[in-house]
Amino acid sequence: RAGQAPNRSVHLFDSGQDGAQRDNLRLLSDLRGAIDGRLLVFHAQPKFAVDGSLRGAELLVRWAHPENGFISPARFIPLAEKSRLIFDLTRFGFETAKRHVLEVRGFAPQSALRFSVNVSGSDVTDPRFPDMLREAFGDDPADLALLELEITETAIIEDLERLVPVLERVRETGVRIAIDDFGTGYSSLVYLKRIPADTLKIDQSFVRDVMSSERDAILVRRTIQIGKDLGMDIVAEGVETQEIADWLVANGCDRLQGYFFSRPLPPPQWRDLAMARLGGPPPFPASK
Ligand code: C2E
Ligand code: MG
Ligand code: MG
Ligand code: MG
Repeated sequence: RAGQAPNRSVHLFDSGQDGAQRDNLRLLSDLRGAIDGRLLVFHAQPKFAVDGSLRGAELLVRWAHPENGFISPARFIPLAEKSRLIFDLTRFGFETAKRHVLEVRGFAPQSALRFSVNVSGSDVTDPRFPDMLREAFGDDPADLALLELEITETAIIEDLERLVPVLERVRETGVRIAIDDFGTGYSSLVYLKRIPADTLKIDQSFVRDVMSSERDAILVRRTIQIGKDLGMDIVAEGVETQEIADWLVANGCDRLQGYFFSRPLPPPQWRDLAMARLGGPPPFPASK
């Protein structure tokens, strides 16, 4: 990278690591600025019921770095998680979810569209979390019923004892809890029994292969059954083809999400889609 000392021969063996560390620190400080300056954008990826009706959207953060261009959340979320910056990013996510709830209510007052925010384990175990959620999203029960937290199976299992009581309290306020990326962690049935969740999101690595691999098909079918028996809604993520969508519907999945239906949409396109599905006035051309 430009701007780095070319002669770091003294530290020859760990210079690569030093460089990577410096890049990470730089990225974190830029991320700090991007959060404070509200320069991140949350795209909204729709979720559909099996009858094709729009049910809500997952908010996925996007960062267009002024110099480095688009940076994937897969790159900067893990860094943010190590630095606690994640907490402020999550707050931003809740504020964004609230704006979406109010916006949809503006053109479809009876809407039950639900917005999901991805949260990290360290968010939930932070003692400030319940207050932060209340401040960022408000405490109107009608609004809280339209918020869902997506937390990965791995994050839950890693800190089960501390997470469960907080998730239970949050859930008592009407917020829903979804287990994200289900199947990629080491969940045993004992854990599944203890996690207070409303929704199970089957990871895309299984969804992708249900048509080509009988083993994946068996695992997904059983997962759907267990999840439903435990009273959970089942969402499939990463649905890329009509065949997979049909298979999931036939096997009892409740909601579908993936490129076959829609990519994550920038806010104006999301608004157009939601309005087209829920009715309301045509959008102003200027809002595009
Ligand atoms: P995730 O929460 O499991 O989100 C699903 C990822 O799969 C998203 O990638 C989404 O764009 C992508 N995806 C959706 N449909 C399809 C499909 O049909 N095919 C394929 N191949 N991919 C699909 P994205 O947006 O790059 O996010 C990656 C991960 O970064 C997310 O996984 C989540 O763990 C994390 N992340 C994203 N936004 C946030 C955020 O605001 N907060 C936190 N804590 N994590 C976030
Ligand atoms: Mg997610
Ligand atoms: Mg996921
Ligand atoms: Mg994922």
